[in-house]
Amino acid sequence: MNTIIDIKHLSKSFGSHEVLKDINFSVEKGEVVTVIGSSGSGKSTLLRCLNLLETPDGGEVNYEGQNILTHMEDVNEYRTKLGMVFQQFNLFNNCNVLQNCVLGQVRVLKRNNVEAKKIAEEYLNVVGMGRYLNARPSQLSGGQKQRVAIARALSMKPRALLFDEPTSALDPEMVGEVLTVMKDLAKAGSTMIIVTHEMEFAREVSDRIVFMDQGVIVEDGTPDEVFNHPQHERTKAFLKRAL
Ligand code: ADP
Ligand code: MG
Repeated sequence: MNTIIDIKHLSKSFGSHEVLKDINFSVEKGEVVTVIGSSGSGKSTLLRCLNLLETPDGGEVNYEGQNILTHMEDVNEYRTKLGMVFQQFNLFNNCNVLQNCVLGQVRVLKRNNVEAKKIAEEYLNVVGMGRYLNARPSQLSGGQKQRVAIARALSMKPRALLFDEPTSALDPEMVGEVLTVMKDLAKAGSTMIIVTHEMEFAREVSDRIVFMDQGVIVEDGTPDEVFNHPQHERTKAFLKRAL
């Protein structure tokens, strides 16, 4: 079995608001799964539950066969296995580009500085930011910041990458450069869970599309199944608005 993440009966509430209801889904090694759905449907909360930025109320989050909700030794080390890329980049603004990609490797993974720099430069080259090692985030465009954030996530050599609307905060002319990097990663066999509103991109790169509505997975299938032959009225209504 090559299952990386297997979620069973996951639930999460904020106060009396049940944001995730009995979520079941799994991701295989090398799979690209895109989660779509209206704002407020629970997509970010789902991603955040996967790497324990939120604590689920019930159910299981099995990572490589182990339920991390009951068997968790080091949460920071666990999080490095699921590299997260956020809408707002979340770069360390007082560090340069290279340091942004080195810090986590040294602090959490205990790699030595020389090795960490080598790995960071390798991935900064992958995202086309190898010429900006000494730049500060404030000197970069949004697209460049997001590419650094992707290199930072890759530098931890995660088992999967989680993207939460990585292009939603970008000016339109910068969306393409970030999506191109993500397409290349997908082609190279990376395991990815992506939340996005970029439907054409989702159709092109995804092995599976998951449609969420009001905390429930309504539909989970191939891009052809979900986009061309949606089974549920809620999916049809969403796609009518989104496509
Ligand atoms: P999406 O990413 O699909 O837009 P979210 O997962 O961010 O949806 O949010 C789902 C619902 O949970 C929304 O109604 C949101 O207001 C609520 N929510 C998210 N985070 C919190 C929080 N920390 N406290 C209270 N409510 C929250
Ligand atoms: Mg969100």
